[in-house]
Amino acid sequence: MITAILTIDDVPSRNTPAIVDYLNSKEITAVMFAVGKNIEKYRDNAIYALRHGMILGNHTYSHPYCSRIAFEEVIEEIEKNEKILDGIYKDAGVIRRYKPFRFPYGDKGGENKKALQSYLRKNGFSKLNDSQIPFKWWREGELSTDIDTFWTYDVAEYNIRTGSSFTEEDVYKRMDAESPQNGGELFKDGNSNIILLHAHDETEEMVPEYYRKYLDYILERGVQFLKPEFF
Ligand SMILES: [Zn+2]
Repeated sequence: MITAILTIDDVPSRNTPAIVDYLNSKEITAVMFAVGKNIEKYRDNAIYALRHGMILGNHTYSHPYCSRIAFEEVIEEIEKNEKILDGIYKDAGVIRRYKPFRFPYGDKGGENKKALQSYLRKNGFSKLNDSQIPFKWWREGELSTDIDTFWTYDVAEYNIRTGSSFTEEDVYKRMDAESPQNGGELFKDGNSNIILLHAHDETEEMVPEYYRKYLDYILERGVQFLKPEFF
C-alpha cells in the first residue's frame, strides 16, 4: 500500500473552489495552509473550502521568511492570521477543531526555532499525526517532533512559471524518481508521504487544472490519500 496526506499551501486563490470541487470528487481531504493576506482578498473562496470539508491551517499573515524577522514579528504574523482564521470559520459556520501551522518556505525561524516551537505548543497549535511516515531522516531529525507541519514530498509545480525552464514533464520525472532531490520516494510500496502542492493562480494560467493532472497521476499510480488526523 502507498499512502499520503495532501497539503496545499498559499490558499485561498481564484482557483480554490475548483480545487476543492476536484478534491471532493476524489474524496480527498486536504490541509490547506492559508495566508492571511490571501484570505482578505479571496474571503469567499476560503469559506467555500471550509464549508466543503477542507481543513484550513495558519501559514502567517504575509508569508515572510521567519528567520529574517524578529521573534515578536513572527508571533504578530501568526496571531494576525489566527484572528482572520477564527473569523472565517465562524462565518462559514464550521467548528475549528484543529490549528495546524506551516512556516512559509519551511523556514522554521533560524535562531528562534526553539522559542517558536514552544510558542506553538503553548498556544494550542495542532500537530499532524505523522506516525505512518516511514523515512529514517524524518524520524531521526526534529521533523517528527516539531509542532508545525512540514512535508516529505514537494510536487514543485510552482516552478513552472514565466522565465523558468522547469516544465510539466519535470514534475512527472520528479514524481517517478527513485531518489527525489529532496523528500521521500512517492510511488514505492509501503511509503507514506506528506505531499505539498500550491494553490497558485500563476500555475493555473501556465497549466490549466494542474492540480487535477498531477493528483490524477498520483492516484493512478496507486497512492491512497489518508484523512489528516491531529494531536
Ligand atoms: Zn507558502
